[in-house]
Amino acid sequence: MTRMETPFPNQPPPYEGRNLYLTDAALRDAVAREDAGHAEATLAQWGATLARPETYALADAANRNPPVLRTHDRRGERIDAVDFHPAWDALMGLAAVAGEHCAPWAAPGPGAQAARAAMYFLHAQVENGTQCPLTMTYASVPVLARHRADLPDGDRWLQRVLTADHDPRPLPVSDKRAALIGMGMTERQGGSDVRANLSHADPAGDGAWRIHGHKWFFSAPQCDAHLVLAQADAGLTCFLLPRMLPDGTRNAVRLNRLKDKLGNRSNASAEVEFDGALAYAVGAPGRGIATILEMVQHTRLDCAIGSAGMMRGALAWALHHASHRVAFGRLLIEQPLMLSVLADLALEVEGATALAMRLARAFDAPADAADRALARVATPAAKYWTCKRAPAVAFEAMEVLGGGGYVEDTPLPRLYREAPVNSIWEGSGNVICLDVLRAVEREPVAVDALAAELALARGGNADLDRHAQTLLAALSRDAPAPAPHEARRIAQVIATALAAATLVRAAPAFVADAYCASRLAPASYAGAAFGGALASTIDARAIVARARGPG
Ligand SMILES: Cc1cc2nc3c(=O)[nH]c(=O)nc-3n(C[C@H](O)[C@H](O)[C@H](O)COP(=O)(O)OP(=O)(O)OC[C@H]3O[C@@H](n4cnc5c(N)ncnc54)[C@H](O)[C@@H]3O)c2cc1C
Repeated sequence: MTRMETPFPNQPPPYEGRNLYLTDAALRDAVAREDAGHAEATLAQWGATLARPETYALADAANRNPPVLRTHDRRGERIDAVDFHPAWDALMGLAAVAGEHCAPWAAPGPGAQAARAAMYFLHAQVENGTQCPLTMTYASVPVLARHRADLPDGDRWLQRVLTADHDPRPLPVSDKRAALIGMGMTERQGGSDVRANLSHADPAGDGAWRIHGHKWFFSAPQCDAHLVLAQADAGLTCFLLPRMLPDGTRNAVRLNRLKDKLGNRSNASAEVEFDGALAYAVGAPGRGIATILEMVQHTRLDCAIGSAGMMRGALAWALHHASHRVAFGRLLIEQPLMLSVLADLALEVEGATALAMRLARAFDAPADAADRALARVATPAAKYWTCKRAPAVAFEAMEVLGGGGYVEDTPLPRLYREAPVNSIWEGSGNVICLDVLRAVEREPVAVDALAAELALARGGNADLDRHAQTLLAALSRDAPAPAPHEARRIAQVIATALAAATLVRAAPAFVADAYCASRLAPASYAGAAFGGALASTIDARAIVARARGPG
């Protein structure tokens, strides 16, 4: 070996190649705990597939070469096509064949949702744009299944969506091997308040409808159909709007522009106009919000899982770097202040992982009534808090890599740009917290389920007991209803209580106690950056060793 070929000292070996599942003790524990142990081998395989250098290269290529809109062909005819880099379809193929969009619906049962959540969590560490259509398709299934009898070809749509395959060809659903479904609600004049939608639908006379109007954000416009909201005479109604018509022609959906986004760049998000687009009503006319809510609840679950996964991805890169990089005569991971930062990040990821995986189990079909009630309040709370923490974790993990963390040679800059979007879409921070309050006020069984869940950990940690008692007193039927300005605090307290309760019941005591001491104890944490407020009594070394995993 010549001098030029000698590996340069003090640069970490490649991160790629470490099995993302087998090296993650918190996730593996959660998989076992949430009834998904039967999926161990599949997840280990998925963790290996994602960790391959080739998969990281695909993720990089798909984001460096974002989709391109082609509105017209060379003869000036409208084609409204989006061209993706081949890396996009390669990644979509990997995930779809693994069943990320359909597995728990195709083979329901105990642990099916948690197994799929773990799959999604692992994918989130490597590439996120592809997760948008996978999530929307996954989330559409309960709505399609409930209303398939109302839809022409309803059984066929469902069957195509439940197929573990990726078929990007623009063909009528009858000619496809598999189908993807998107979601169109947001318009220029209002996204959170969809009641302000202006798009309107008129009966076409044959049971179908014609939609005129627009959508301001219409992600993955290449999907085979979107569930969209539009005003009918009876009020806001949900429609299935196919991309291609049964005769093989394009539906009247014009793609005007693709958004130039901060992150999520591999994915196309379009502005569209409907010019009498053919659509079929899903659910009763006038009941659009109630109909699409089931889909929204599942996309919110994925936001929580995906943000937890992104945090784990960022942490794992940071741990890898700190385990191999020496500064001032010592490995970074052995520098006491760096150890404290890494331990604090690891605690955040432990909590987020436990919370997202516990929540996923509550979505299992058939879930018991208590789990359904718990999911009603825990989903918006977990979505809020997990998504709020992800940008902060991504930033701090980036800094662990020093200057290299700011450079596009690792996925950390991409994760950092990606992290805010889960908080913004599917119910932005304030809107999702107001939904927590709505659940508390209107669905007392949700608060009962929350209390029952927290009771399972009672006596395990004094900080948690105090935190839970204060929370439940504030939510009790006798207490005054919480005011809107308190909604963020309440959502955070619910999310951290649930995360802590899961850790207290199941994680090693050095993790659970440190999580409770740093996140729940009064005034312990407000405003501190990671590593800035951990008590010296916590076992940072053990927390970090567990997060780092073998090797
Ligand atoms: C990359 C990307 C892709 C997207 N893809 C899709 C898609 O495929 N389909 C789709 O339908 N939408 C999509 N969206 C849109 C997204 O869901 C909306 O942007 C979001 O719901 C917020 O709506 P808005 O932008 O109209 O903001 P607004 O509704 O105007 O809200 C602005 C801010 O005000 C806050 N706010 C609203 N109401 C209240 C209140 N009562 N009290 C206090 N604060 C309040 C919100 O939390 C938010 O922070 C996408 C967005 C992005 C960024």
